[in-house]
Amino acid sequence: MTARILEGKVFAQAFREDAQKKAAALQEKYGVQPGLAVIIVGSNPASQVYVRNKHKSCEALGIYSEVIEMPETTTKDELIAKIDALNADVKIHGILVQLPLPEQIAAHESEILERIRPEKDVDGFHPVNVGRLVTGEPGLVPCTPFGCLRMLELAGIPIDGQRAVVIGRSNIVGKPAALLLTANNATVTLCHSKTRDLKAKCAAADIIVAAIGKAGFVTADMVKEGAVVIDVGINRNAEGKLCGDVDFAAAEQKASFITPVPGGVGLMT
Ligand code: NAD
Repeated sequence: MTARILEGKVFAQAFREDAQKKAAALQEKYGVQPGLAVIIVGSNPASQVYVRNKHKSCEALGIYSEVIEMPETTTKDELIAKIDALNADVKIHGILVQLPLPEQIAAHESEILERIRPEKDVDGFHPVNVGRLVTGEPGLVPCTPFGCLRMLELAGIPIDGQRAVVIGRSNIVGKPAALLLTANNATVTLCHSKTRDLKAKCAAADIIVAAIGKAGFVTADMVKEGAVVIDVGINRNAEGKLCGDVDFAAAEQKASFITPVPGGVGLMT
């Protein structure tokens, strides 16, 4: 079997069109333009690219966008004061604090993120939103696992009753991906660096979500014939080329659907 490739750009386009319609409907019905504020502290080059892209996307979708650039030396209290101001700002409905934070405040990350009002926490990292995800109540969900689930839905891939293996248990990807799959009636095994018999667990899975951060970690013998493979990893291989956590060329021969890297999940987020 050769897999069908789940092209991120196709799904991302559907996603953007939907968001644009929703933004226009809010404006038309209630006179409200949705607004996003992104705070970037310091000058991490990758973060600057991400923030610029978010700003451009908002503009294209009819979403009001503010980028707040704060110096590398910003203190925890200064950042919290900015979050408080945005929490109170009626133009702003979503607040993102771009991670990673500079060293002197990184240790306070939880306190900083918890200062965002849960209803404006568009990253879905606030414990209230995490709790809602756990209990199955509506809330804000981290974008990467949400994008993975939307891809499966939009591609018409059944989740209900399927055996899913998620590799990686980070708060940003692995855990919320496992919770979203559970909420969609998959039977989920959440694997991590201490998991025993990982290969066997993967080889029995109908859906594999790989979020490890190790190039080529998921090999063909871990992929069941006809399985769906979602590769979240973003790595550089020995030649310096961008690649995922899955040995794509080999897994593609066995999977029914597979996401490429680059060009897959990354474009959904
Ligand atoms: P992380 O480092 O926080 O977590 C990695 C997880 O992999 C851990 O839970 C760890 O237990 C697990 N792991 C490590 N070695 C393992 C092993 N040998 N066997 C089984 N599990 C093992 O990483 P993260 O933030 O979750 O990101 C994972 C990958 O996804 C990275 O490559 C990252 O760049 C990528 N990522 C992509 C997007 C996107 O597409 N927009 C967003 C976030 C992260």
